[in-house]
Amino acid sequence: MTQGGNPPPSDFIRDIIEDDLRTGKNDGVVAVRFPPEPNGYIHIGHAKSVCLNFGIAAQYGGTCNLRMDDTDPAGESLEFVQSIIDDIHWLGFDWQDRLFYASDYFEQLYQFAVQLIKDGKAYVCSLDADEIREHRGSFTEPGRESPYRNRSVAENLDLFARMRAGEFADGEHVLRAKIDMAAPNIVMRDPVMYRIKREPHYRTGTDWVIYPMYDFAHCLSDALEGITYSICTLEFENNRPLYDWFVEQLITGRRPRQIEFARLNVSYTVLSKRRLIELVENKYVSGWDDPRMPTVAGMRRRGYTPEAIRNFAAAIGVAKNDNLVDIALLEHCVREDLNERAPRAMAVLRPLRVVIDNYPEDKVEEFTAPNHPQKPEMGTRPVPFSRVLYIERDDFMEDPPKKYHRLGPGREVRLRNAYVVRYAGMVKNEATGAIEEIHCICDFETRNGPPADGRKIPGVIHWVAAAQAVPAEVRLYDRLFRVPEPQDDDYKRDLNPDSLEILTGCYLEAGLGEAAPGTRYQFERLGYFCVDIKDSRTGRPVLNRIVPLRDSWAKIAGGGR
Ligand code: ATP
Ligand code: MG
Repeated sequence: MTQGGNPPPSDFIRDIIEDDLRTGKNDGVVAVRFPPEPNGYIHIGHAKSVCLNFGIAAQYGGTCNLRMDDTDPAGESLEFVQSIIDDIHWLGFDWQDRLFYASDYFEQLYQFAVQLIKDGKAYVCSLDADEIREHRGSFTEPGRESPYRNRSVAENLDLFARMRAGEFADGEHVLRAKIDMAAPNIVMRDPVMYRIKREPHYRTGTDWVIYPMYDFAHCLSDALEGITYSICTLEFENNRPLYDWFVEQLITGRRPRQIEFARLNVSYTVLSKRRLIELVENKYVSGWDDPRMPTVAGMRRRGYTPEAIRNFAAAIGVAKNDNLVDIALLEHCVREDLNERAPRAMAVLRPLRVVIDNYPEDKVEEFTAPNHPQKPEMGTRPVPFSRVLYIERDDFMEDPPKKYHRLGPGREVRLRNAYVVRYAGMVKNEATGAIEEIHCICDFETRNGPPADGRKIPGVIHWVAAAQAVPAEVRLYDRLFRVPEPQDDDYKRDLNPDSLEILTGCYLEAGLGEAAPGTRYQFERLGYFCVDIKDSRTGRPVLNRIVPLRDSWAKIAGGGR
C-alpha cells in the first residue's frame, strides 16, 4: 500500500515523462488535464484518472487543468459541472485558475475547421448517417469515397458557413476530414468533424447548431491549453493517429501527445456512465449520491475518505491492459484509513434489554472510555452506566454452543469499558416466546480490572445505557450487485436485493445525538459508520455503515495483516 513516506509511484506514463524531462523535450513543461464531460457525476474510475493527472502535475512541478469536455449538448448540465468541481475538490485536488470549458473554444474550433477546408483537407458531405456508414467499409474492405468528396473549397466554405447559420436540417450535411478512405485504420476514413444538432447547450444556448466531434475537439482543446500529455483511456488508442493528424495539420510548435492507460473496472459495480444514469433515472438507487453508488458523491456520503480513495488509486497503479479490480481492495483501503482516524464509540443496532438486578434503580455512574485503543492522544470520553442497558440481540443465546463467548444461561461476560456481568434469567413474551429482556448480576469488584478470584472471562460485548442512549436510524449497505461482473444486457437482474437494510430503533452511546453530519466512528465490534450528510438531524441521527470490520481483502492477500 502506498502511503505517506513511500517513494513516489512509478509507471509507464511517468517513465515517458521522465524520459522527456531528461532529453529536454517540451522544454521541461509537464501540462496535463482532466477532461470530464458534464453529463453525469464522476465515479471511482474518474477518481483514478483525477489522482493520476493531478498526481503527475504535483510530482513534476507541472500543472493540471480541469476542462469540462462539453462539446455535445445532450445530457450536459450545470448541475453536473458543479458536482464535478465539488467532488474533485473533495478528493483533495485543485486547479487554481485553470478551469476551462471546451465550449469556450467553439469559435476557435470553427476557425480551425475553416482552415482545413481552405487547405483542401475537409469537405462538406451530404450523405446521411447510414450512407456514411456503408461507405466506410470494414476491417477487411476499404471504404468508398463520398460523391461529395471533391467539392470545391469555395463550395465547402459556403456550405459550412450555412450549416453554422442554421440553413439546414439536422443530419442534412456533415463536415468531414479528407484523409484516406482506404486507410487500414477505419478511424482515418474521412471521419466526421462537425454535425448539425439543434439542441440548446447549457452554456452557449442556441448560439450554435453545429457541434464538433470528440476526435476533432479534444486534441485541439489540448493544444489550445498547451497540454503536453493528454492521458486518456485505452478505447482511444485507435483514435491516436487521428488525434495526431488534426494536431499536425493545424498546430505549429509544441504539440500534445496522447497516452492511453487501462480504464478501471471494479467488481460488484458498474462504471459506465450510461448505466449509472439508468440506475438513477429508473430509481434503482436514491440518486447520484446514493451511498451504494460508485460515484465520488456516493462514496463521500457513505463515509469513505478522500485519503482512502487516493490510497486505492495508488495501490492499483496504472496498467496498459484492462483489468478488474476487486472491490474488497477499495474497502480494505477505507478500513485501513478509518482504523487510524475514526474515534471508537458504542452503538447497539438490534437491541435486547438487559436489567442488572443488583444495580440501584436511580444510580448512574460514568466510566472513562478511550477514543482509540492505540492513540491516547485522541483522548477519552465518559460513558454512563445504569441499571437498564441494551446489548446486541445476537450477543445472547438461550442455548449457545460451547465456543460462544458471549451471554447465555450460566455465562459471564465483560461489558466493554465496564463491569463483568453474570446471567440471571430471562423474560419471554407469553404469546410469541420471543425473548423480551434478560436479567444479570453485576460483579462490582471488576470495575477496574479482572475478577479478584482469577477466573477467566472469555468474552467482551458492547452495550449502551438505556436511559441515556440516543435512538437512531442506521442504514446498512452491501454491494450494489450480487455478481462480480454484472452483465451488459440485462444487468438489473444482477442487482443485489439486499444492498440496503434500514434499521430503526438502534441506540447510540450518549452524546452521539449531536454528532455533526459527516462525522465517522468505529462502533466497537460492528464496523465504521458515518453520520448521514443529508438525512441526519440533531437529536435524531441517521448513520450509514461505511464498511463492516471484517476485511476480506486482507484474507485474499494472504492474511499478511
Ligand atoms: P462517456 O464518455 O461515456 O460519457 P466517460 O466515462 O468516458 O464516459 P468522461 O467524462 O468522458 O466519461 O471521462 C473523463 C475522463 O475520465 C476521461 O479522460 C476518461 O478517460 C477518464 N475515465 C473515465 N472512466 C474511467 C475509468 N473507468 N477508469 C479510468 N479513467 C476513466
Ligand atoms: Mg468520454
